Amino acid sequence: MNTTLKVINDMDYWNFFNASLTKMKSEGRYRIFQSLERCVGEFPYAMRQTSNGTQKTIIWCGNDYLGMGQNPDVIASMIETIQRIGAGSGGTRNISGTTNPHVFLEEEIATLHDQEAALVFTSGYVANETTLATLGSALPGCVILSDAHNHASMIEGIRHSKAEKIIFKHNDYGDLESHLQKIDPVRPKIVAFESIYSMEGDIAPIQELAEVSKKYNALVYLDEVHGVGMYGHKGGGIAQMRKISHLIDITQGTLGKAYGLMGGYIAGKAPLIDFVRSMAPGFIFTTSLPPSIVAGAVTSIQHLKQSRIERECHQSNAAYLKKKLEQTQIPYLESESHIVPVIVGDAKICKEVAKKLLNDYDIYVQPINYPTVPMGTERLRLTPSALHTFEMIDELVEALTAIWDAMSLKKAA
Ligand SMILES: *Cc1c(COP(=O)(O)O)cnc(C)c1O
Repeated sequence: MNTTLKVINDMDYWNFFNASLTKMKSEGRYRIFQSLERCVGEFPYAMRQTSNGTQKTIIWCGNDYLGMGQNPDVIASMIETIQRIGAGSGGTRNISGTTNPHVFLEEEIATLHDQEAALVFTSGYVANETTLATLGSALPGCVILSDAHNHASMIEGIRHSKAEKIIFKHNDYGDLESHLQKIDPVRPKIVAFESIYSMEGDIAPIQELAEVSKKYNALVYLDEVHGVGMYGHKGGGIAQMRKISHLIDITQGTLGKAYGLMGGYIAGKAPLIDFVRSMAPGFIFTTSLPPSIVAGAVTSIQHLKQSRIERECHQSNAAYLKKKLEQTQIPYLESESHIVPVIVGDAKICKEVAKKLLNDYDIYVQPINYPTVPMGTERLRLTPSALHTFEMIDELVEALTAIWDAMSLKKAA
């Protein structure tokens, strides 16, 4: 058939995409992924392909904080589950995709956080996005108060909820209260924040934020993604460590970081969890996680409920790394957590430092640039794990010092 369609729109899509990419490249914020293969038993090393063949490389920016992604019991339970149940789950949770491991995992997570119930999602991102979108749109006239540094997944969820959104100053419960005071008391309110901020490593004044929220009868929503597994006597996070879990209405977490797998969740009172289970599109209309991942997560959570050695090594490595950076005057953001951001402050220089670390020292740290962090605060986000050694830390800091000197970068006072 001869078509005589008249084109009334001369939008040049390909020019648009190419020009956008070129602009990102010229601004130094085009993302290049480093391809790596981790090797079982060799954590925190991985293999990377170079023009000179395979190169053994140490990972210094992973979120497998406790090495549980390489834990032999976790791996064994996953293999056993695949051989017994098969590969995928075969459906959504509602339609044939709920397996026994899914049910066990939700029970395990509820007890981890001393909550009545829990709900598992395909990722921490989806847990945040879907839960906030669902609650914010379902609660009539809801207002969501969101910390200025909240993760993209919460920001997207709040946006999709179409609820009124108020951003309060980072970790500032006085500012939060000044906003809460002005909201009509009859309106439902959700206050959403993180325990540990992923790019700064700073820890929120959870008790104060939660108490102010309770005073105005707001629901307290806490993202514990960078706390779960690593803090608290059972690995339940910062709220558990500070013995204030009872102040939290909704605890959100991930299975992808300290637990070493993938998946996300919320935990809270039974009616709230049941409501989200029944209403949330991002929970209902998607294939559930493979049972092997779910079984691995059960093993990982159970292990970290009992074992403290990983948490102790993790903390002592973070403290040692900070001490070494202090001594060598490499500028980093101080915090009480295990996340150690080294500030470079320029996208291109940040990339250059990372490139030198990789090419000259076989040290892998992904540069963190805008829009993940504000322009002018570009950084190398160092994440010591439980399985790094003091010797590895010494080598990292020696490499950083050599690069800092060679490039005449600014040192801390
Ligand atoms: C990584 C992260 C998430 C998302 O978790 P995933 O399981 O990786 O999707 C949510 N919140 C914060 C603060 C994070 O850093």
